[in-house]
Amino acid sequence: MTTAALPSFIDPARIGPWGMFLEQLERVEPHLGPLAAWIDTLRHPKRCLIVDVPVRMDDGHIRHFEGFRVQHNLSRGPGKGGVRFHPDVTLSEVMALSAWMTVKNAAVNLPYGGAKGGVRVNPAELSMPELERLTRRYTSEIGSIIGPDRDIPAPDVNTNEQIMAWMMDTYSINQGSTQTGVVTGKPISMGGSLGRKDATGRGCYVVAREAMQRLGMPMEGARIAIQGFGNVGSAAARIFHDAGAKIVAIQDAAGTIANTNGINPHALLGFLNGNPRALLDYPEAEAIANADFWGVDCDLLLPAALENQITAANAGQVRAKLIVEGANGPTTPQAEDILNANGCTVLPDVLANAGGVTVSYFEWVQNASSFFWTEKDIHDRLDRVLTEAFQGIWDLAAARKVNLRTATYIMACSRVLEARALRGIYP
Ligand code: NAD
Repeated sequence: MTTAALPSFIDPARIGPWGMFLEQLERVEPHLGPLAAWIDTLRHPKRCLIVDVPVRMDDGHIRHFEGFRVQHNLSRGPGKGGVRFHPDVTLSEVMALSAWMTVKNAAVNLPYGGAKGGVRVNPAELSMPELERLTRRYTSEIGSIIGPDRDIPAPDVNTNEQIMAWMMDTYSINQGSTQTGVVTGKPISMGGSLGRKDATGRGCYVVAREAMQRLGMPMEGARIAIQGFGNVGSAAARIFHDAGAKIVAIQDAAGTIANTNGINPHALLGFLNGNPRALLDYPEAEAIANADFWGVDCDLLLPAALENQITAANAGQVRAKLIVEGANGPTTPQAEDILNANGCTVLPDVLANAGGVTVSYFEWVQNASSFFWTEKDIHDRLDRVLTEAFQGIWDLAAARKVNLRTATYIMACSRVLEARALRGIYP
């Protein structure tokens, strides 16, 4: 990768997740034909906003947090992507996450560009009123570039439907009218969609089911190890379990538990009762070392926590035949080479976790028309969108003799760059 492709504000020595995205682009470039002439557009995020988020803490002093909203590409429609609250949030990370949204939205053919936001904060250290003030000030600061037709945030790591409710309310107050369509992942009572909460986990299941059929892997009794037991990981665990699979290991920020006979995710959620720190106390599984998680004997591995988890250092330990990337960017390009060489199929994030943004799209459509669908409508449409996307990408991978990530990037980047070329350069 040439450093000339880096925006000036990124330190070439510490390019992080954005560097990973650039490397993924390099891999797809030779497959894009004449559209490759436009690929530099994807190496330059359209708009990066860095905002100061001052918050009056409960004890009266003021703390400043750093907030970001990046709109990577808007060629196919308004920006769409989540908001993350995490102490490790950086501009590089938000840029990469926004770029992966561009690819993801195009991969499943949603009429959106890619965007992402974040605040560098550990929300566990804030009281509820402090979290609300932080959310409202951040929303107000990025208010000039978001909107139902401009850029539509959604939940991501450490953000949830309550935070979406505060974001929607703040934006609406500043606009002087109720704008339900400015965020998705809202509570049902204020314009949220049925089926949104579990949508990302359900999407992981749908694409895994399709891949397993083609790989000759039965769902009944399939052994699954899951990293991250939050929104994505816990929903996926329930849906896989209900379909007959067996959850044999779970790793979360609190540690790792395993049981070769299977962990019932419904029972575990009941035991945790909203307190994820109790994971290691769960009596129906044994605690194991975090480092042993990657080598757990399983058929399917589902990383659903953060990026950069499967690296060249641990990829060789993986025994799963299939990896389903619930998280964004969990596998480095070097790790993927090792996995592929060992006969492991990787369902890339930009396809595997697209269920969330797909139902977000359904929510946005419902908000725009003020007409709401049944949960069955949502599940059926989600299944159809993802199954069709999967089939197209699977066939393309076979035809071009490339892995599924490169095939997904070929499909998505071609759509984005075709729109870019047709729109042309202004002036
Ligand atoms: P979440 O905050 O609900 O859950 C994250 C989970 O990861 C938590 O259970 C946390 O304890 C765990 N975790 C954090 N650090 C960890 C570590 N070092 N080791 C092991 N576990 C760790 O977040 P989420 O919404 O479930 O998002 C998880 C991933 O899925 C992220 O990469 C996110 O970008 C991606 N994603 C989320 C959605 C969505 O709809 N929420 C959609 C697409 C992709």
